Amino acid sequence: MTEETALEPASAATLVDTAQGKEWLQRYSNAVLGVFGTPQRVLVRGAGCHVWDADGKQYLDLLGGIAVNALGHAHPFVTSVISSQLATLGHVSNFFTSPTQVALAEKLLSLAGAGEGSKVFFANSGTEAVEAAFKLARRNNTSLQDSHPRTRILALEGGFHGRTMGALALTAKQAYREPFEPLPGGVEHLPCNDIAALEAALDESVAAVVLEPIQGEAGVRPLSISYLQKARELTTKVGALLILDEVQTGVGRTGRWFAHQASGITPDAMTLAKGLGGGFPIGALVTFGSEVSSLLTPGQHGTTFGGNPVATAAALATLHALEAGSVLQNANDVGSYLRSKLAGVSGVSEVRGEGLLIGFDLDGDYAPDAVTEALTQRFIINAPTPHTLRLAPPLILTRTQAQSFLDALPAILETARNSGAAGNNAAQTTEASE
Ligand SMILES: *Cc1c(COP(=O)(O)O)cnc(C)c1O
Repeated sequence: MTEETALEPASAATLVDTAQGKEWLQRYSNAVLGVFGTPQRVLVRGAGCHVWDADGKQYLDLLGGIAVNALGHAHPFVTSVISSQLATLGHVSNFFTSPTQVALAEKLLSLAGAGEGSKVFFANSGTEAVEAAFKLARRNNTSLQDSHPRTRILALEGGFHGRTMGALALTAKQAYREPFEPLPGGVEHLPCNDIAALEAALDESVAAVVLEPIQGEAGVRPLSISYLQKARELTTKVGALLILDEVQTGVGRTGRWFAHQASGITPDAMTLAKGLGGGFPIGALVTFGSEVSSLLTPGQHGTTFGGNPVATAAALATLHALEAGSVLQNANDVGSYLRSKLAGVSGVSEVRGEGLLIGFDLDGDYAPDAVTEALTQRFIINAPTPHTLRLAPPLILTRTQAQSFLDALPAILETARNSGAAGNNAAQTTEASE
């Protein structure tokens, strides 16, 4: 008897027993490797901008799985495209290609305004896209002057690029790096938005400069348009690649397809992931122009899963739904509204970001307590630093939903400020989840 005749169609719910949240968390700590700390809730279902936990409580999701669920949860169009692709052809390996892979590459190049000879490499996550970019940078090793090999890569303090060894080498944060040294060498970290420091460090020994247009993990800290433009000008002058990590800022998150489009520059390469698959895992490296696109040659990089029919169908469906629903316009409208209102909330000292990638500072180190209190009030938010809260909700968030959070926020901050003062430090920053 084949499996097809033995098993009836089913949902994953039939493969697990039913338990309450508390019991799941106990079983989690016994079975799942402890790199993420204790999960805040056990989630069982989502629809639009809401999720439900194992105890039946409903939450407004203002984090979107860390800037991933661009179209919210269980988007009907994306779900139907993924299911039908999986039922048609799920995986083929890169010995083969599929129509969705080719069409997605073409679509991304078109949205990025990438010229003749530009190409796309598909991976499964942000860190893998960055890893590919790192290898691309290493291949940019021939200097204009033969006497100077290009061995240096410049990145920024506060930057976050992922957890694999190459991406970690680009990431500045000591706590993430130190336990895993030695990391791939040659990376130097410069202060943010410091044009003089960039000018002083850049010469023909530099292979690449790697930047996030807005530093997400650092608490939504934008690079200035003049800094990005200067980085473009200076890298071009010395023949270094300008690589933009748009894993968090790309795919409509900032109200533009890609955040760097606000500065009018064209990078040499760009990494994408988080929002690209609308919740389905996929990453991409876009290389601009034929010269950069021929740095990595056959056999020099690869992946088994990357660019598979289901992931690329998910991304095509996501991009289509973002376009068809004028969702970027919504991200701009609701994002501007949120930022203008947040600026007037007592306890909020600074508001940053573009579109629906928003960071705001508090007048004390009680952001983790605010995350805990927000959960109690049924809102999911995030504290990338002890005094910063981040919102990266589905781009379909309505003004009414945003308003419900704005209405609840003053009391959330008040409670968090007081619980922090009472020495309740149980809450932690949730950055370890990224
Ligand atoms: C999240 C993130 C990454 C890493 O992506 P993963 O999918 O978690 O590997 C890399 N760069 C930036 C800017 C990110 O925000």
